[in-house]
Amino acid sequence: MRKIAIVGGGQSGLQLALGLLQKNYEVTVVSNRTPEQIFNGRVTSSQFMFHDSLQNERDLGINFWEKDCPITEGIAFTIPGPDKTKALFWDSRLDKYGQSLDQRVKFSGWLKEFAKRGGNLVIKDAGPQDVDEYSKNYDLVIVAAGKGEVNRMFERDAEKSPFDKPMRALALTYVKGMAPRQPFTAVSFNLVPGVGEYFVFPALTTTGPCEIMVFEGVPGGPMDCWNEVKTPQQHLEKSKWVLDTFMPLEGERCRNVALTDDNGILAGRFAPTVRKPVCKLSGGRFALGMADVVATNDPITGQGSNTASKAASIYLKRILERGNQPFDAQWMQQTFDIFWNYAQWVVRWTNSLLVPPEPQILQLMGAASQIPRLASKISNGFNNPPDYSPWWFDPAEADKIIQQLAGAAA
Ligand SMILES: Cc1cc2nc3c(=O)[nH]c(=O)nc-3n(C[C@H](O)[C@H](O)[C@H](O)COP(=O)(O)OP(=O)(O)OC[C@H]3O[C@@H](n4cnc5c(N)ncnc54)[C@H](O)[C@@H]3O)c2cc1C
Repeated sequence: MRKIAIVGGGQSGLQLALGLLQKNYEVTVVSNRTPEQIFNGRVTSSQFMFHDSLQNERDLGINFWEKDCPITEGIAFTIPGPDKTKALFWDSRLDKYGQSLDQRVKFSGWLKEFAKRGGNLVIKDAGPQDVDEYSKNYDLVIVAAGKGEVNRMFERDAEKSPFDKPMRALALTYVKGMAPRQPFTAVSFNLVPGVGEYFVFPALTTTGPCEIMVFEGVPGGPMDCWNEVKTPQQHLEKSKWVLDTFMPLEGERCRNVALTDDNGILAGRFAPTVRKPVCKLSGGRFALGMADVVATNDPITGQGSNTASKAASIYLKRILERGNQPFDAQWMQQTFDIFWNYAQWVVRWTNSLLVPPEPQILQLMGAASQIPRLASKISNGFNNPPDYSPWWFDPAEADKIIQQLAGAAA
């Protein structure tokens, strides 16, 4: 039986671990938090996931909460105008729904399930020395520790990482009591040029259904406002202030909101970073990075959990295909390269929204308000960002697709 160690029990690590257990691998997961600490701890993400990523979980039979979790049917895009008007607006249904399940629920549940199914769960904040130790006794060591410090073992890839500082001041607010969006549930995305972005959608948290507010403030701007916040109640008040000030139509949905719990808030920032996937350990062996460890994206496009699910799915397939052959550095690099064929488009598309938009992006977003098929194409691209190539990035291709979809509509 082949032995695999996975450092980090999050979206990618646990999805992969549960998949490997089903194929009779001997799997160890190293988690720096117990299931109880995760469940009772602070929220870590807004974790909205689109169809293909959810399907990976269904395929493994680990979508335990799907029936209880609210569904989100579409994407809405608004640039607010003066006096509660909309300077630009479109919305579109997704071909298939998305969902957000609080990682506190999912990771604590999956960790317990992993142990129940015979996985070896180690509770430890693993460092590079531990990774080296595991490499002596396991056929393969994968580091899936997300934004945990241990990811620094993997060298930053400067060529693939255009930013060396955080591009947004982030905040999350989990609430109950928000007025639902009409006429269908959606990731309601609002952009205030020069100030930042706000999006909100239904989710399932530790205490039942809720809505998750995500704030993306341009650093140094008026939405970069969380440093002075000291208590959960102040965090909620600040969230409402941002909405009433910059997106009053969204503020109106929030007259009766309350926090889901005192841990349903988060504020922070990080630089989007791509890292080299193979780390040579002090003992001469190698470890392979996965998901956020190798590609951390700003949450502006809601892709991190989706990309983590896709990474776990690719890595699982590669491990199974490898049979009894060694997991050497070349195999590790090739595994990452297959992931990167996909992830490069997530990174490029996400990064395109962190800087003042190129003219063709403005043109596409504007045209989508007139061309429902274009709005649908942009919305459904969230499920598979390679679909944005080439038209999102190239003015001539953008023109072409606008003409094509406008013609099709006529
Ligand atoms: C504000 C915010 C909003 C987001 N919104 C979305 C969204 O809407 N949609 C989306 O798809 N993505 C979103 N993301 C990103 C998404 O949550 C992550 O990209 C995703 O969870 C990454 O998966 P992972 O498997 O790489 O790591 P994680 O899921 O982060 O799991 C890593 C695990 O490893 C553990 N760990 C860390 N260090 C160690 C260590 N040294 N030893 C042992 N264990 C360790 C951690 O405790 C954690 O449980 C958001 C992120 C943020 C910050």
